[in-house]
Amino acid sequence: MTHDPSSSDANAHSIIVQKYGGSSVADVPRIHAVARRVADSVRAGHRVVVVVSAMGNTTNELLALARSVSASPRRRELDLLMSVGERVSMTLLAMAIADLGIPASSFTGSQSGIITDTNHVAARVEEVRPHRIQRALKHGHVAIVAGFQGVSRHGEVTTLGRGGSDTTAVVLAAALGAEWCELCSDVDGVFSADPRIVSQARRLDELPLDAAVALSRAGARVLHARAVELARELGVQLLASATDRPAGSGTRLPPGPAPETPIGVTLDVKLVEFEASDLERIQGVDGAVRHIRPGAKGYTLLVDTRNLPESQFHGTGRPVATVTAVGRRLVTHPILTHKALAAVSVPVERWWVDHTAIHVQVDRAHAHAAARDLHATLVEDPHSV
Ligand code: ASP
Ligand code: MG
Repeated sequence: MTHDPSSSDANAHSIIVQKYGGSSVADVPRIHAVARRVADSVRAGHRVVVVVSAMGNTTNELLALARSVSASPRRRELDLLMSVGERVSMTLLAMAIADLGIPASSFTGSQSGIITDTNHVAARVEEVRPHRIQRALKHGHVAIVAGFQGVSRHGEVTTLGRGGSDTTAVVLAAALGAEWCELCSDVDGVFSADPRIVSQARRLDELPLDAAVALSRAGARVLHARAVELARELGVQLLASATDRPAGSGTRLPPGPAPETPIGVTLDVKLVEFEASDLERIQGVDGAVRHIRPGAKGYTLLVDTRNLPESQFHGTGRPVATVTAVGRRLVTHPILTHKALAAVSVPVERWWVDHTAIHVQVDRAHAHAAARDLHATLVEDPHSV
């Protein structure tokens, strides 16, 4: 995507973007709490652009409503319907902020100049023309932007794919030349592993964007993969924070290469492995293939089924998991590759490296154990690496 360089004005350095996820605005008390947090940032001297998600479970409810009316709703209508969720939260938040004595105006994706392609339900941002946002900031207003939505060149409302508010925040931050883009949720930053699985996981103070991209591609759900990739591409500094903590207390994600030493472990338990004789005849998995190699029938494919109909793999695929450790020395220093593999106490089906990480494929039933093993050896014990 591109943005208009003439749109960044002279005082752009003082602009910050804050994105609040659906659980952060799920009810009226939480909307008031977000309003106070935004007001604190304004009083600290920032010009603030806020991107909001729909309240709580609203998007799912709207989708369920559509399905209860029609088995095959048009994607154009679905986009218009889903865009309503963010319009509700943006207006309520603008009212709550105004009640604190701080002028605030809300804008739809279209009003914010988020121009996308015409691919309904999964549109890509092509350009950002944030003139109205800039005007609002210039007049001392907080600009509240509906996340997850844009407008196509044909004037149709589009949405950016589930979780797309993070994408909105990143592209706006780039277009406005914002100092940073803070992604606020109920999680207090990015951890070295999922704390529900690895009890020793610790919060990272800093995670360079290359490492964040590697972790999110390998299944980590804490950050929105597309948004993190865009942040890297556009050079946007991210911050992952908890809404109920002060700004800046979470994880910083600056543009930059993954660290040399192992920084984190993630696992992907939604993978299916299957054999194929003819790559030309494989349909419906574009973009979801995680790994491909020569196999018994010709090729073996490892496919991420998260966004695919499960029925597609009935009888053909074998459920597997990968555990991934990120850190460049895992790739460049064979002794460390050896340590990683030796640490895994469950059977390793196969493993491979790319330029930032080692990936270990195991039976799904063993995935959590493998994650704990790798984390204990590579991340918890700095002397061992
Ligand atoms: N409300 C949309 C969703 O639930 C977008 C978002 O939350 O970022 O997918
Ligand atoms: Mg949502």
